[in-house]
Amino acid sequence: MRMYINGAFTSGSATEEITVINPATEEVLDTVPMGTAVDVNTAVAAAKTAFSSWKRIPAWERAGLLHEAARKMQDHAEELAHLLTIEEGKPLEENEEEVFWTYDTFNYYAELGRHERGRFLPPGDPDQLNFVIKEPYGVVGCILPWNFPLLLLAWKLAPALAAGNTAVIKPSEHTPLSTLKLMELAFDHFPPGVVNVVTGAGVTGDALVRHPDVPLIAFTGSVATGQRIASIAAPMMKKLHLELGGKDPLVIGPDVSMELAVKATAYAGLINAGQVCTSSERIYVHESMYGRFSEELAEFVGSLKLGNGLDPDTDIGPMLRPHFREKVEGQLADAVQAGAKVLVGGKRPSHLERGFFLEPAVIVNVDHSMRLMHEETFGPTLPLMPYRNFDEAIALANDTTMGLGATLLSHDAKLVKRFFEEVKAGTIWINDPLTDNFAGPFGGMKMTGGGRELGQEGIDEFYEVKHVHWDVEGKIKEYWFPYGKQHK
Ligand code: NAD
Repeated sequence: MRMYINGAFTSGSATEEITVINPATEEVLDTVPMGTAVDVNTAVAAAKTAFSSWKRIPAWERAGLLHEAARKMQDHAEELAHLLTIEEGKPLEENEEEVFWTYDTFNYYAELGRHERGRFLPPGDPDQLNFVIKEPYGVVGCILPWNFPLLLLAWKLAPALAAGNTAVIKPSEHTPLSTLKLMELAFDHFPPGVVNVVTGAGVTGDALVRHPDVPLIAFTGSVATGQRIASIAAPMMKKLHLELGGKDPLVIGPDVSMELAVKATAYAGLINAGQVCTSSERIYVHESMYGRFSEELAEFVGSLKLGNGLDPDTDIGPMLRPHFREKVEGQLADAVQAGAKVLVGGKRPSHLERGFFLEPAVIVNVDHSMRLMHEETFGPTLPLMPYRNFDEAIALANDTTMGLGATLLSHDAKLVKRFFEEVKAGTIWINDPLTDNFAGPFGGMKMTGGGRELGQEGIDEFYEVKHVHWDVEGKIKEYWFPYGKQHK
């Protein structure tokens, strides 16, 4: 497939290609151009030209275009979910959900964009009008990871467009096909230049970050890349919206049923083979149930079916690329070396000859000195630690540099209150891990970054705020210069 710039598909000035492969079969799916700085310039110029008219289109009209895009996505939901499955690997069922949440994000922000645009303030003087207006930034650079290619794009693109910005998107080099397909299927009715996609790798993203006509970078990805982007953007004082990695805790209270504990934990840690920024990567279990829970979780996890995401019986798909699997294997090996015990999983399955599969693992005898417990894993691992009392559980949950999400399983209101008050994380889930509500903000604390996506907060990120102070009468003021004469 080719890039999408100024309303047309093009190879731009690329001389190299990126090969996109299916992580479940290792088959080549397609190639895309390795976009260059020249292509970034062309796309930004198109987006800048388009911005001058896009920002003036009435919000209700923009809303209509966004709703139409959502309708087209819905019409092609099956095709998009299939493409996501072969490109990214997670089970089709999860991708059908991803497509639904993607088009619904466009519907949500189409409506939100028509509403609040600012506010009036009580004037300091009866002749004055004071009001706050919200304006789009201009060309927004959207840089994306690979684990939810369309959903995470929607969380940026829908509010950015609804707020009146135009966009240049740099999808992950691993999963560009679904984004390009989205352009073909759902954005052909947009004015040229409003939405552009430049495919490529880190160098392409780097060119977008450095571009002087891109005042805002909306980035989702790893902490390391976020830090690089922040250091490049700092001298330009460029606005950044950074959604970075996680190391989420899941705490199991002593009062929940074993079935809830086992099923919620497995889901929280293993959906998309653990390749979710909000995967529960550290599991803390009350000591009264730790032994039985470890056994039952290991048995349940051992029964999950690993396979190609197109097979309806598959619970867990492959990891995206061999080097991501090697990273997880390295963390597991280090932990075992330091005394951890793998109860189940952690191996490459012998029955699947191709694909980057890793059996989901349940690990005990772990502690926070191990990489497995303090580095982001981004793979199918469930390391378990017992805790004696809730003070200890909260201290363990907070013992991380990250702050994206945190889950508590408990029906005890006192524990719940302490948990959401004391745990430093952007989203707190009680008994229902990893769910989103479009009306509520999503984002992180600490090294996970700053901005918020979804909800009102998610569109506010794409507006600049301006305070207008207007003296309608325009009389000469007594308090102006010269001071001396005035006071005589
Ligand atoms: P990554 O940081 O390797 O890449 C993300 C994007 O940045 C890609 O498009 C990549 O090409 C681009 N990039 C790389 N170097 C760049 C540079 N120097 N300048 C500009 N762009 C550059 O991350 P990934 O492996 O694609 O995704 C996994 C990471 O994303 C995990 O850490 C995960 O936790 C995080 N993530 C966070 C959230 C969230 O909402 N907080 C959601 C999903 C994923």
